[in-house]
Amino acid sequence: KAIGIDAGGTLTKIAYLDEHNELILTTFPSNDLLAVKNWIINHPDIEDIGVTGGRTEQLLDVIKTMKSIHYIVEFEATLKGVRFLLHKEGYFFERSMITNIGTGTSIHYMEGNTNIRVGGTGVGGGTLIGLSALTTGITDYNEIREMASKGNREDIDLLVRDIYQGMDTPIDGHLTASNFGKVGITEFVKHPAEDIIATVQGLVGEVITTLSIQYAEEKNAQHIVYIGSTLSNNDHLTRVIANYTRTKKHTPIFINDHGFSGAVGALLNI
Ligand code: ATP
Ligand code: MG
Repeated sequence: KAIGIDAGGTLTKIAYLDEHNELILTTFPSNDLLAVKNWIINHPDIEDIGVTGGRTEQLLDVIKTMKSIHYIVEFEATLKGVRFLLHKEGYFFERSMITNIGTGTSIHYMEGNTNIRVGGTGVGGGTLIGLSALTTGITDYNEIREMASKGNREDIDLLVRDIYQGMDTPIDGHLTASNFGKVGITEFVKHPAEDIIATVQGLVGEVITTLSIQYAEEKNAQHIVYIGSTLSNNDHLTRVIANYTRTKKHTPIFINDHGFSGAVGALLNI
């Protein structure tokens, strides 16, 4: 049997096919690679392991003597995997952007069977956790995404229409003029943690979307495929990104198992 492993900055993802050709997916924190080793030991029928991701060296330190190892660079694995997952859902875009929101964010342009990394930003899933922890003390991802869904950004973000009170706005009034911008220009009050975290998600989502759209316009690509575990079960962040992408006249695409693109690509590379 063969498996693919993507050892990322935060999470290590494993993907393989069962006897019915169904994808089986599992996740470990990247700071516990021994757990990955034990998982492999408990699956003695594994012969080949495809590996990718920034923590590959650390992973190989733990597992390299075990099986036949096949390495593929992270961006190639991710794009191979995302192409597979897109086709599986019936999407065949001539040109598209792929935005991978991992610990950090990488943006790729995909055209037919070719792809190139066009840019990225340090604003990503790590930023979401880091800023949420610093502002509210909450560090657990699942708690963060649940609280965000109950939060309200209205009292913290400054919208264009808040500035242009009673006037016509030169751009869409619902756009954010300044993330967190209301705090500094209104009387200081303590905001609920839910609202702060929702606003952090707004900042992270909007920075990533804005940058993705700039590249999409440069490359003349209509569709932007957003992937990465930062979007896992995170309806609030997904909505921020979807709405902002549509407001700016592009089409957001979300696919199943997107967080495992790298692991799937490493598996396909064997
Ligand atoms: P990179 O690709 O930048 O090296 P990575 O591959 O580890 O990092 P992903 O696994 O795609 O990145 O996403 C990591 C992000 O997903 C975290 O920063 C966090 O926001 C979110 N996340 C989702 N599930 C969890 C979890 N169980 N524990 C921690 N973070 C999680
Ligand atoms: Mg990754």
